[in-house]
Amino acid sequence: MKYLFGPVYSRRLGHSLGIDLIPPKICSLNCVYCEVGPTTELTCERKEYVPTADILQEIDQLLAKGAGGRPIDVFTLTAMGEPTLHTGIGEIIAYLHEKTEKPVAVLTNGTLFFDPKVRAELSAADIIIPSLDAARQESFERVNQPAAAVNLEQVIEGLALFRREFHGELWLEILLVRDMNDSLEDLLALQQAVRRIDPARIQLNTVARPPMDGRARPVTREKMEQAAAILAEGYAGRVEILVDFQAIEQKEFRQGTQLQAKLVEDIAALLQRRPCPIEEIDTALHIQDLDLTRACVQVLVSAGRLEKLVHNNKEFYQQVTVRKA
Ligand code: SF4
Repeated sequence: MKYLFGPVYSRRLGHSLGIDLIPPKICSLNCVYCEVGPTTELTCERKEYVPTADILQEIDQLLAKGAGGRPIDVFTLTAMGEPTLHTGIGEIIAYLHEKTEKPVAVLTNGTLFFDPKVRAELSAADIIIPSLDAARQESFERVNQPAAAVNLEQVIEGLALFRREFHGELWLEILLVRDMNDSLEDLLALQQAVRRIDPARIQLNTVARPPMDGRARPVTREKMEQAAAILAEGYAGRVEILVDFQAIEQKEFRQGTQLQAKLVEDIAALLQRRPCPIEEIDTALHIQDLDLTRACVQVLVSAGRLEKLVHNNKEFYQQVTVRKA
C-alpha cells in the first residue's frame, strides 16, 4: 500500500489506520520540532497532491482483505506534511463513513481553518486534532516558521469558528519547545487563545523524538505542569499531558553522561600541558559551570590520573604522570 499504513497503536486514538494524504514534505509550516525533516514546499496552496481515486482504491483493498487480523479503532487522516492541503480530504472522509462504521480522525496543523471550504470538508470527521503552539507572533514564527500567507490571528479565529460549527470532538494539541514558546507571556497568550477556541481537550506535548532543528529541546516536567495549570484557568475542558517524561529524562541522562565523559577527557588533555586551578579549567573549556568542572576533575582524581597541589596558597590540579616523569 502506498498511502495507507498501520494500524499503529496510539495512546490517544487506539489502533489507528493511517492514511497519508501529502508526500514529504509539503506543508504550510516548517516547525523546528518536525520529525519528517525540513519543509521543501512551504505553501498554503490546496490541490490534489496525490490522486484521490488511488487512495479510495487502497481503502477498498484494505476493507476487502482486512488489516492482517489486527484491530482498527479509527481511520486517521494525516500526512508527511499538512493533510488539509489535499482538496480530496472531504471526499475521503465521506467515503470512509460510507464504507465503514469506524470513526475518522484528522491530524492537522490548523492553519487552513479560516477557509470556509476547509471547515466544511472537515465537518464530517469525528475527531479533529489541530495544533496551535503559539499565540504570539514572534513565538509562532520561531517555532512554526509559517508560509508567508499564514496569519496567526486568522489561524486562531478559524479554529474558534470551526469549534462552533463542528459536532465532533476537537482536541487542541500544544507542543512546547524549551526557550522558544514556553515563556509566561507565551502561556498567557495561549490561555487567551484556548478560551476563544474552547476545544473539548487540550493535549500538551514537547519534543520527544529527534527534531528537524537540533535547537528544539523538550521543556522540563515542571514547565509542563506550570503550563497545564495556566491553561486550565478559566477553561472547562480537560488538559492532558501526553509526554512520557521518564523516557525523556532517561535520554537526557544518557546524553549528559556521554557529554560528561567527553568533558573529563578534555580536562585531562588540558592538564597534560600545564597545572590549572578549577576556575581556569572552567574558563578554558567554556564549561561555565564550576560544580560540573569540580565533579569532572574529581572523577580524574579518583581514577589516580590527577592530583592536587598547592602553590602560593592556591589549589592547582595537574596530571599525575607528567609530574612523575
Ligand atoms: S505542521 Fe506538522 S508536518 Fe508541517 S512542519 Fe509542522 S510538524 Fe512538520
